[in-house]
Amino acid sequence: MNADTTGPHAGPHAVVVGGGITGLAAAHRLLAAGARVTLLEAGGRLGGKLLAGEIAGAPVDLGAESLLARRPEAVALAEAVGLGDRLRPPATTTASVWSRGRLVPMPKGHVMGVPGDAEAVAGLLSEEALRRIGRDRELPPTEIGEDVAIGAYVAARMGREVVDRLVEPLLGGVYAGDAYRISMRAAVPALFEAARRHPSLTAAVRAVQAAGGAVPADVAGAATGLGGSVFAGITGGVGTLPGAVADAVRAAGGTILTGTPATALHRAGATGWRVETPERTLDADAVVLAAPAPVAAGLLGGHAPGAAALLGGIEYASMALVTLAFRRADVPGLPGSGFLVPPVDGHTIKASTFSSAKWGWVGDAAPDLFVLRTSVGRYGEETQLHRDDEDLAAASLKDLGAATGLAARPVATTVTRWTGGLPQYPVGHLDRVARARAALADLPGLRLAGAAYDGVGVPACVASAHRAADALADEIIATSETGHPGAGHSS
Ligand SMILES: Cc1cc2nc3c(=O)[nH]c(=O)nc-3n(C[C@H](O)[C@H](O)[C@H](O)COP(=O)(O)OP(=O)(O)OC[C@H]3O[C@@H](n4cnc5c(N)ncnc54)[C@H](O)[C@@H]3O)c2cc1C
Repeated sequence: MNADTTGPHAGPHAVVVGGGITGLAAAHRLLAAGARVTLLEAGGRLGGKLLAGEIAGAPVDLGAESLLARRPEAVALAEAVGLGDRLRPPATTTASVWSRGRLVPMPKGHVMGVPGDAEAVAGLLSEEALRRIGRDRELPPTEIGEDVAIGAYVAARMGREVVDRLVEPLLGGVYAGDAYRISMRAAVPALFEAARRHPSLTAAVRAVQAAGGAVPADVAGAATGLGGSVFAGITGGVGTLPGAVADAVRAAGGTILTGTPATALHRAGATGWRVETPERTLDADAVVLAAPAPVAAGLLGGHAPGAAALLGGIEYASMALVTLAFRRADVPGLPGSGFLVPPVDGHTIKASTFSSAKWGWVGDAAPDLFVLRTSVGRYGEETQLHRDDEDLAAASLKDLGAATGLAARPVATTVTRWTGGLPQYPVGHLDRVARARAALADLPGLRLAGAAYDGVGVPACVASAHRAADALADEIIATSETGHPGAGHSS
């Protein structure tokens, strides 16, 4: 057993590297299991991609803004740390697609943009594209193999237009990725499995819909409260969740060190680890690596070069969010919660969220303002992000004007850049992650968790954290009781 060089208590000690929602959730879970916990965060603030901010005095999320409530993990974590009464469903979920110069209501009756029949997407696609979708049922089955790019597969079955105008913008909203690269197995596992069993894609979509799983990997799961809403926000921002989890971690006796990057990882004895930071060295019985994959790769290089190479190969997309506050009186009636933009149309923005309309708490906090945000940049389009803040805001206003007729000048603008914001899930990604984890299986007391491995959405990150924490708690608590590693190593 290694003793924490900084802590007064005995007992197994876990070090969590990374203070995003994954690391915080892992710390929270490990403490509940009886471990002592030290969390290391490189930056000066906790939360990673979750960031609550304000514009013109109005509270607003400047990072992730919406929790999937049909998966239980994020909502349950919010409830566990005292935010249950601040969970709110969106005030409206009606969105549009800005396609060929028109705002078209987002079609219903599809699985991540893949329709169960042509009629479901009639308002959005051309007559020719609708006929092409109908041909899916006449085509011989397509071999899918172990994985396939969702864009290529859907285009082969139903034509490119449905990919370019619906699948691509929807996936772009989750991964900031490219549909022609993204793994169907990772992004829409239920549809992937159904497509292997059914003769046509249309039949597969209908089977998924009939099973109630018309939502993608980061969107699937059990319904919870919130009036059955699929999504939830938090009054004051989803960005307030990390602070609440951190408070709970501290209250349970955990130590959180910000401005403290893990800089090296060494083995200590047969089962322990030593984690170096610029100012101290921590002995640990268990380590959760919840920092982005390239950081995990750097820390693991000396111990598991194969795993490090696999993790180092995980790519990230960068993006920027442009948040704009207008005088409400200057803003015409904008439809619904916002709109998605098919990249094929060549606009700068990829989506816009009308925050004041979507989240009652934003509207209530600043009734005289109308706050909205746009997103810019996705995988392979990072050049957009070389533009300075003023230019990004001007481009956003131009696109907003063209899409909605909004001509007002904002009273405040905030540009938030998310460099390396979203890990990419290309074809073969799940296999890469499985191989990396297998290559780490011989190292006791170590787990990977976070957005790069088990899904990018906040609930998926919390689930990833919990799996890592539970496995480590079994391992180190069994070791502390018997002197031998107990539970199997099953990352
Ligand atoms: C702009 C944007 C909008 C999004 N919107 C949504 C949304 O609405 N809903 C949703 O569910 N998901 C959304 N996501 C995805 C989701 O927010 C993220 O996938 C998730 O928050 C990632 O959490 P994480 O803890 O795994 O990683 P991160 O948030 O990246 O946290 C990792 C942490 O590790 C720290 N770190 C790095 N190196 C070290 C080191 N050497 N030592 C110690 N610490 C280190 C970093 O500083 C960081 O704080 C969005 C993502 C982005 C970028």
